[in-house]
Amino acid sequence: MTVTALRSSVITFHQDPFLVDPANSYRYLEDALVVMADGKIVSVDPYSDAGADAVVDAVGTRVPITHYPDSLICAGFIDCHVHYPQTQMIGAFGEQLLEWLNKYTFIAEQQFADKSHADRVSRVFLRELLRAGTTTAAVYCTVHPESVDALFEESERFNTRMIAGKVLMDRHAPDALLDTAERGYDESKALLEKWHGRGRQLYCITPRFAASSTDDQLAAAGRLWKEHPGTYMQTHLAENTGEIEWVRDLFPQRSSYLDVYDHAGLTGPRAIFGHAVHMDEVDFACCHRTGSALAHCPTSNLFLGSGLFKMTQAKQTARPVRVGIGSDIGAGTSFSTLHTLNEAYKVSQMAHGRLTAAHAFYLATRGGAEALYLQDSLGSVAPGYDADLVVLDLAPTPLIAFRMGFTQDILEKLFVLMTLGDDRAVRATYVAGVPVYDSARDEPFRYAAEPSALAPSPQTERYPGIPG
Ligand SMILES: [Zn+2]
Repeated sequence: MTVTALRSSVITFHQDPFLVDPANSYRYLEDALVVMADGKIVSVDPYSDAGADAVVDAVGTRVPITHYPDSLICAGFIDCHVHYPQTQMIGAFGEQLLEWLNKYTFIAEQQFADKSHADRVSRVFLRELLRAGTTTAAVYCTVHPESVDALFEESERFNTRMIAGKVLMDRHAPDALLDTAERGYDESKALLEKWHGRGRQLYCITPRFAASSTDDQLAAAGRLWKEHPGTYMQTHLAENTGEIEWVRDLFPQRSSYLDVYDHAGLTGPRAIFGHAVHMDEVDFACCHRTGSALAHCPTSNLFLGSGLFKMTQAKQTARPVRVGIGSDIGAGTSFSTLHTLNEAYKVSQMAHGRLTAAHAFYLATRGGAEALYLQDSLGSVAPGYDADLVVLDLAPTPLIAFRMGFTQDILEKLFVLMTLGDDRAVRATYVAGVPVYDSARDEPFRYAAEPSALAPSPQTERYPGIPG
């Protein structure tokens, strides 16, 4: 039994601050002892044993306490919408969604027919997630089955809980990126049987969006999802006005964009709809009724000029919808969840909402877990939960250190951190109790499966040199 003990301050959410008084939604301990064993959190208590520098495990072994002063332990961040193949094309200039797909995305994704390329990008992608404190993500691969293997293989080495799948597209993309309804079904099924529930990996059936799949393909995706309870479904919804008009033209018989998916059996628990910027009351009510979740991707929505997500309407107490936060790399501009929360706050301001630090950090942790129906194992720092944690440095830059000196309470500190912070604020990331990323180590990344094995990192090899 491997026991690990950490001392720091802790914040964790146990209720949804959109639905209860935010002051009652979280637990904060200014000086806490977090004990983990065999990948789970065993206890989270006030650190009261003045001066103790070790705990004793069940068989009497003395386990040293790792102390993180001026830091805050939080559940590992959850990214509900991200495209790993687009890591190589973040910051592609000047287009809205449909032009951006044709000009940049569909070019980049063709390279993933080459497994060694997919391996290389997976390595960079997982490291960037961990450097950002993100321990779980819902990930789009490409149409190539090899791209899914590459991502899950690397995730398995870090023991991260990833939800991912092969993109389904049988029209309106270059030939090299198209499958067919039947081939997409067969390949997804084989990948699902190989990866879903293997270690911590979970499979997600992934039609890219309504315009790139025929009725047949959407129906086949719905059938596959229904045949495999517990698997996920992710796609894009109502992101951009040009896209919405196109979907309306392609599916004139459907009452809305969301109705296209609902009709194909693609709404329900474990359905994750990316963006959902242009939604009306009927759409939100459908998401609430079916238990479907939305992934709010503020940096992407601003970057592509898509629009402003209606958080207040989505989370209406009479019919709340499950909402998580997504980076949407590579239309999104940062892996950092702190940066994403910063932009979510601004989107909320523009949309006449008010996203407090409690709301924001809930969305990035427990809210994401609820969106993914994993709230019983992820998203909280509490006994019995998976030991996926991020240790945030509360003074990562001279400016933040200075600014923190003028704060009164933890929510003020969190708000400063999400406004000014980025990956420099991530001191360490624990996955199932193992510090797979530690910014202070010479070699910051370490695979979980073999804790002694160093993972190639930019410090020694630089990203372009990561072997395939
Ligand atoms: Zn996306």
